[in-house]
Amino acid sequence: MKSFAYHQPSQIPEAAGLLAAVEDSKLVAGGMTLIPTLKQRLATPPALIDLSKLPGLSGITDEGATITIGAMTRHAEVARSTLLAERLPALATLASLIGDPAVRNRGTIGGSVANNDPSADYPAAVLGLGATVVTNMREIPADQFFVGLFETALRDGEIITALRFPVPLKAGYAKFKAPASRYALVGVFVAQFAEGVRVAVTGAGPGVFRVPPMEQALTQHFDPSAIAAIKIDTEGLTSDIHAEADYRAHLVTVMAKRAVDAALA
Ligand SMILES: Cc1cc2nc3c(=O)[nH]c(=O)nc-3n(C[C@H](O)[C@H](O)[C@H](O)COP(=O)(O)OP(=O)(O)OC[C@H]3O[C@@H](n4cnc5c(N)ncnc54)[C@H](O)[C@@H]3O)c2cc1C
Repeated sequence: MKSFAYHQPSQIPEAAGLLAAVEDSKLVAGGMTLIPTLKQRLATPPALIDLSKLPGLSGITDEGATITIGAMTRHAEVARSTLLAERLPALATLASLIGDPAVRNRGTIGGSVANNDPSADYPAAVLGLGATVVTNMREIPADQFFVGLFETALRDGEIITALRFPVPLKAGYAKFKAPASRYALVGVFVAQFAEGVRVAVTGAGPGVFRVPPMEQALTQHFDPSAIAAIKIDTEGLTSDIHAEADYRAHLVTVMAKRAVDAALA
């Protein structure tokens, strides 16, 4: 690992100032993705800005129609939240399926969403629920946030402070894990709102995406049978050592049906 400066700011403007002051400096949240990247020298930032001492970035708040989760909230806190178990259990389930206990006790929701790994779980919930990404500069709707492979709409110097999730009528998440890494080979988040259904898929392609034909079918009839015959196109899906595109396409339908089952359970 190359040497780097380490800062532990106590206010968000101070963190933003430090980030802007040194080119290529990096925020560190749980470090679950960033630290291995540094150890392998895949990134060599001149400075790390640790978010762990910033006040107000952690915790889960119920606002009625929405639930806000601070960016530094650990996956384990989301998984065991009694508030989420009652109001948005699919999100707690999703968090409980991330990695292993060590990863869940260090990794944060803000870090996961900012990183936008194509196989990460949270992006499916953020897009599937039509959440809002709250930063130190603005609010970004989920449909505009995920731009591509490890790419988001975040600008230089922008820090995610929270995620705001609309509370659905029903929601479910189903994930087919890659056996070694436990990342999603395919994960599907389904959310039913009074206005219609949203379906978001992670793991299958270079970034999380929605499936409009499934959304339309489930809005008409919220039952797994409504989407059983819907196959997604393999064009643009990932083929790698873990699975071919056609297998991933098949898994999207299977996981979407399971997610609807979970929402109805
Ligand atoms: C063994 C292992 C298994 C895993 N399995 C899974 C899995 O099954 N599913 C899954 O979804 N993930 C999995 N992960 C990833 C894990 O969920 C990480 O927590 C997550 O990817 C990054 O979160 P972090 O808090 O550790 O962020 P960090 O590693 O600290 O940061 C990641 C990136 O996000 C940026 N960043 C962090 N916080 C912010 C912020 N608030 N605003 C703006 N940018 C920010 C950092 O600068 C960095 O570029 C796994 C990781 C490991 C090591």
